[in-house]
Amino acid sequence: MALVFTFPCGRCGQKYSVYYPKAFVYSVYGTGTRAQGEREDAEEIASGAVDAARKRAESVGNVWVDVSQQPKITCTCGKNLDLNLANHPRVPERKRAASVRQTGVIAFPGAHKKPPVAPS
Ligand SMILES: [Zn+2]
Repeated sequence: MALVFTFPCGRCGQKYSVYYPKAFVYSVYGTGTRAQGEREDAEEIASGAVDAARKRAESVGNVWVDVSQQPKITCTCGKNLDLNLANHPRVPERKRAASVRQTGVIAFPGAHKKPPVAPS
């Protein structure tokens, strides 16, 4: 499935459907290899998934953007849109899950207390 996110302009409300080719996502965000991404992109394009997503976006008045061709959007109203997936909460599920990983053993209260030292 083609990776497309919709970004509404915070100022004028124009919607942008932004296509993130896997080769781009994988190389930028390190979630896979570029070669693997290119293979998946080719499959998506061949299957018509990208075209279908684009037609769907344009049919509802969204502006279609391929982020690998156009990494930044400046809206017609002059506002710059941030297309960095890392800044948008719905994407890096995997990263978030990884960061919640537990760290070490929970110390049992008093477990590391040194035994009382006898006065010399
Ligand atoms: Zn705008």
